[in-house]
Amino acid sequence: MRKPIIFGNWKMNKTNAQAQVFFDGVEAFVTDKADFGVAVPFTALATSVNAASKMNVAAENVHWAPNGAYTGEVSVEMLKEIGVKWVVLGHSERRQYFNETDADINKKAVVTIENGITPIVCVGETLDEFEAGNTESVVRTQVSGCLTGLNGEDVKNIVIAYEPVWAIGTGKSATVEIAQNTCALVRDEVRNIFGNDVADAVRIQYGGSVKPDNIEEYMSQEDIDGALIGGASLEVDSFKAIIDAIK
Ligand code: PEP
Repeated sequence: MRKPIIFGNWKMNKTNAQAQVFFDGVEAFVTDKADFGVAVPFTALATSVNAASKMNVAAENVHWAPNGAYTGEVSVEMLKEIGVKWVVLGHSERRQYFNETDADINKKAVVTIENGITPIVCVGETLDEFEAGNTESVVRTQVSGCLTGLNGEDVKNIVIAYEPVWAIGTGKSATVEIAQNTCALVRDEVRNIFGNDVADAVRIQYGGSVKPDNIEEYMSQEDIDGALIGGASLEVDSFKAIIDAIK
């Protein structure tokens, strides 16, 4: 039985003061029905880790090198020092605006796992790829490219988020059928590479305009173990409504 996993993604939103208000507002409502958490900007990580007790806190990115001449980047050791245990890797906005490739994401996955930080690895096709009928090949290539060389036992504990790029922040969510079918093929690709035990254990999220009023439908699907949520994770009330929706 895979435990549901629901993470928000604040993107480039919230100061430290605003992060504190969020955690003060939601902590009391967090249940053990799922692993709940939120990915926050680097500057709000320390405040968030201190403010969170039942919530989990993720970074939105990390560099693969241990240190060095990478102006503007942050290392795994820096995240560890302040108690961060999760990181989102390869979000489509990182791929689109910062040219992150599957090979980059793979290097990041390797170092985070080595250091005991759990990655949430994002995959998903663009609108052009979707309309051309290439979702399956794109997503399979991303899954294998991002996870190549990892140890199967480690992959059991990571999270993969399927986020069709055309559904992120657009208000256009993928139908439940599309979300389920693509999450199933993500799992199938994991099965091809790592075998049944790993495929049955790995948790797969759907992301793309998930809200309090549609999350239950997604969560009822066999291969959808959770959600990665942008817009609806920003406000205390909508995040509370999401927590309440996970029974
Ligand atoms: C996201 O940021 O990963 C996301 C899915 O955003 P939204 O829920 O706003 O579509």
